Amino acid sequence: MLLKGKTAVITGGTRGIGYETVRQFLLNGAKVALLGSRTETAEKAVEKLKAENKSFEVRGYAPKLSCEEEVKRTLEKICADFGKIDVLINNAGISSSTPLLKFSEEEYDKIADLNIKSVFVCSKAAVPYLKETKGVILNTSSMVSVYGQPSGFMYPASKFAVNGITKSLSRELAPLGIRVNAVAPGITETDMVSALPKEMIDPLIKSIPLGRIGKPVDIANAFVFLASDMASYITGDILHVDGAARA
Ligand code: NAD
Repeated sequence: MLLKGKTAVITGGTRGIGYETVRQFLLNGAKVALLGSRTETAEKAVEKLKAENKSFEVRGYAPKLSCEEEVKRTLEKICADFGKIDVLINNAGISSSTPLLKFSEEEYDKIADLNIKSVFVCSKAAVPYLKETKGVILNTSSMVSVYGQPSGFMYPASKFAVNGITKSLSRELAPLGIRVNAVAPGITETDMVSALPKEMIDPLIKSIPLGRIGKPVDIANAFVFLASDMASYITGDILHVDGAARA
């Protein structure tokens, strides 16, 4: 019960790492606002969690994460529903393996919009609430934010940006008592990974010293720790949860 009494807003909470993070937050006593890309998928995820434990305090929302006005209205609603916000997790993200010469402007904008702009928009909208609770912003980075990857340059580029936002905001928001950290997962068993070509994944798995790919719960546990008061002196850090993988 590391998060008893805390309220968290978690983007990309409908599946994969986000869903398991919502679940672990609930199991640790938090109340959770689960954000998805569509109302139906957010509601479906909430139903699944309530079927597991009907006393879980979780509600679904689906604002466009790169739209300041929509996110502001949603956080107002969340605050009205739950009373306060202690934790924001900017987790929603999309990946790419498109080679440079086939990379379109549209794909560039789509990745930049979700993986970078939404981190800015959601963080900015959450600060007025987080400064009241001395809260926490956590971002989902990636191991590719250190090493890049052989194809799909914009995905690692967006995660380098997430690290930069994390480090800069940790310094800017520290005087308000807000901590800002990121978790950088290695290859993790989610839909995002099953969408990647086998030729790309197999050599990556072979290079993991711990000999396996990560499970969503491995990443969720890192978020629980960083959101908890046990991490009260940690800010500006990128916590790698990747079995020592090197991409
Ligand atoms: P996933 O595809 O299983 O889930 C992605 C989540 O993002 C979903 O909940 C989806 O609803 C949400 N999302 C997608 N597009 C959206 C949009 N336009 N607006 C709002 N929400 C949207 O992916 P995952 O593997 O769980 O990835 C979660 C995060 O972890 C991402 O930021 C990803 O970059 C990062 N990550 C994943 C891995 C991995 O191996 N799976 C490794 C490193 C980092």
